[in-house]
Amino acid sequence: MTLNEISQAKNLIIKYGKKLGEKNMSPATSGNISVRMGENVLITGSGTCLEDLSEEDIVLIDKDANIIEGTIKPSSEKNLHNAIYAIRPDINAIIHCHAPYSSAFAVCRIPLSKPIISENVFYFGEIPVADYALPGSEKLVENTAKFFAKHDAVLLANHGIVIGAKDIKNAYYLMETAETYAQICLNSMLLGGAKELNKKETEEIYALRSASK
Ligand code: 13P
Ligand code: ZN
Repeated sequence: MTLNEISQAKNLIIKYGKKLGEKNMSPATSGNISVRMGENVLITGSGTCLEDLSEEDIVLIDKDANIIEGTIKPSSEKNLHNAIYAIRPDINAIIHCHAPYSSAFAVCRIPLSKPIISENVFYFGEIPVADYALPGSEKLVENTAKFFAKHDAVLLANHGIVIGAKDIKNAYYLMETAETYAQICLNSMLLGGAKELNKKETEEIYALRSASK
C-alpha cells in the first residue's frame, strides 16, 4: 500500500464523513468510518467529528487493531469493523453512525423489515436489530458481526446502525438509503400504516437483485 493510496483513501473518508454530517446522520463525535487497505484498515480516530475530519484524524491499524501508522487513538468500534471485514471479504468499507431515524428504530428494537419500497427490498431485504451491548465492547462485536453473514446493514439496539459495502461511496449511499427508508417507515406509521408489497411483488424484486449479482 503506497503513501499515495493511503492519502487517497483518507480523503475519501473525509469526503463521506462530511456528507454524513451535512445530512445530519452523524451528530457531534458519534460514529466511525473505515476502509480496508489490503491486510490493514484505515479507521477514524476515537472522539473525532465525522463532518470535520482531517488526515491526522484517521489511523491505519492491523487486523488485531494495533496501530501501524498515525498518532490518534483508533475508534472504540475498531474490533467491530475488523470482525466484519474478517467475515465478509467483499466488504471494503464500513460506516457506523447514529443517524436519527435509523437510531429511532434501533432504540425501539424494531427491525427495518417492512417491504414497502422496492429500493429497500432490493438493497437490504431486512435490516435486523442486534442485541444491545455496551458501545465499544467485545459483546457488541459478538452480538453484531454475525449478522453480516447474511446482511449488509444492522441496527444496534439502543445505539445506531452499521453498514458495509464494496467501497466507501456505496457504503455512504446505502446509509442514505437506509436512513430515508427509516424516515418513510416512521412517517407511514404516523399516517396510519403503509400498504406492504405482497409476496409476488417482493419476490419479483428479489429476482431482480439475484440477476444483478
Ligand atoms: P468513536 O469516536 O470511538 O469511534 O465512538 C463513536 C461511537 O459511535 C461509538 O459507538
Ligand atoms: Zn456508536
